[in-house]
Amino acid sequence: MTLDLVTIPCRSDNYAFLVHDTESGDTALFDAPETAPIKAELDARGWTLTDLFITHHHGDHVEGVEDLRAAFGCRVIGAKHDAHRLPALDQAVSPGDDLSFSGHKVDVMAADGHTIGHIAFYMPGAKAAFTGDSLMALGCGRLFEGTPDQMWTTLTTLMSLPDDTLICSGHEYTAANARFALSVDPQNPDLIRRADDVTAMRNRDEFTVPSLLSLEKATNPFLRAGEPGMKKAVSMEHDGDAEVFAAIRKAKDNF
Ligand code: ZN
Ligand code: FE
Repeated sequence: MTLDLVTIPCRSDNYAFLVHDTESGDTALFDAPETAPIKAELDARGWTLTDLFITHHHGDHVEGVEDLRAAFGCRVIGAKHDAHRLPALDQAVSPGDDLSFSGHKVDVMAADGHTIGHIAFYMPGAKAAFTGDSLMALGCGRLFEGTPDQMWTTLTTLMSLPDDTLICSGHEYTAANARFALSVDPQNPDLIRRADDVTAMRNRDEFTVPSLLSLEKATNPFLRAGEPGMKKAVSMEHDGDAEVFAAIRKAKDNF
């Protein structure tokens, strides 16, 4: 049973993701930033959308939902907590709920911080987590609704996933995130190497998303808030992990 993962660039810097079960023919979409590129990808592959998973209510993650539902009659799944501000849900879920796609387990994880009611989906069978605007490549989402403590809880939960998990996040912000990361963690050799890789990839018009969790843990300054080396780099050796995270998040807002 093989699951194919396809990354689709949308709008100016968004990503959507398809997961296709080659045996059943079922296809899931994670976030719907824009109809046309998603429809084009499905048509080119001859795939029919069966399931549409939503991470959070922002327009750049849900704009294509109604068009895609009309075109495919797919099941739309999103957070029960946010049902009042999401497109109509066929299945409203809460963190910890049992959920599956074509017989494959999908874990619903709380991912508050960027918004309250933001969720992430982890598919062990695809070794992939769909994190929307929570954990991102070399970054994390801006805190529009949640507190630093809430985002830190989200990030620590995501960090507990297996190291070889692909982090499928919502935006191509990695080059700008790398510039900030280097400003707070300039001596980190893994980060220096990754920043060079990101520059090279963007010069070749390659996507830097998805990224491996192991690489995020080694280089993402927000995930490194609990590391002694990171605390030292921001002169907060004696502060708690969540405080260090809050300081780094604040520094990014003002970068
Ligand atoms: Zn968002
Ligand atoms: Fe977004």
